[in-house]
Amino acid sequence: MRIVRAKHRDKIFYAEVVDDLSLRRFTGAPWLDGHATAEIVSAREATLLAPVTPSKVVCVGRNYAAHAKELGNAVPTEPLLFLKPPSAIIGPSEAIVRPDSSERVEHEAELGVVIGKRLRNASAQEASAAIFGITCVNDVTARDLQKRDVQFTRAKSFDTFCPVGPCIVTDLELEALSVRGRVNGQVRQDGNTRDMVFPVVELIAFMSRIMTLEPGDLIATGTPEGVGPLVAGDSVEIEIEGVGVLSNPVR
Ligand code: ZN
Repeated sequence: MRIVRAKHRDKIFYAEVVDDLSLRRFTGAPWLDGHATAEIVSAREATLLAPVTPSKVVCVGRNYAAHAKELGNAVPTEPLLFLKPPSAIIGPSEAIVRPDSSERVEHEAELGVVIGKRLRNASAQEASAAIFGITCVNDVTARDLQKRDVQFTRAKSFDTFCPVGPCIVTDLELEALSVRGRVNGQVRQDGNTRDMVFPVVELIAFMSRIMTLEPGDLIATGTPEGVGPLVAGDSVEIEIEGVGVLSNPVR
């Protein structure tokens, strides 16, 4: 199933993608008991929004060894967590805005995981059963500020620094999916989830021992090597195999 969040004639709703032309409207978020209605909406008349409105975005740093190395960091022995604020989220085609205070803004192509059930102190099995689906995330980062600060909050949190979408796909095997980042059509990142240091289920279980994960929360699972700068006028695409392409202009 492919789930989107869309705007159509001033109404915002979740929907299932039926085909290229039509969306089936849901009563609410599917991870909060929203269910399909009989109402079909024209996909061409609808604008896609970010498919999640999470209580938090929990991210993992250095979860691909080759990316840790390219930034001169050691591979962590346990997951390195940080948060992005929900206020940073934008949807497909919305502009990433480079802040005046940074000289170096970079893309990070990441597999995003949407949580379907409340989780606290979860086992690996419980974590696996609580995955609602996956989506594309661009963990946009002000790299110069990240290097200057002791922790990541400022560098990761500017408005527009968390593009998500275009849809959430359920029932995908996560173990070997390609994760690609392109800028102006040129491939910069070409990784695969099989190269994660900590697999998705282990990450979710680990996070749930620290904070309660709520339905609709978004997990960004780290980026493969090949991160690079974004400048005004660029078009950046994140593609996850089986999900699709998340495209955003930069200004
Ligand atoms: Zn990242």
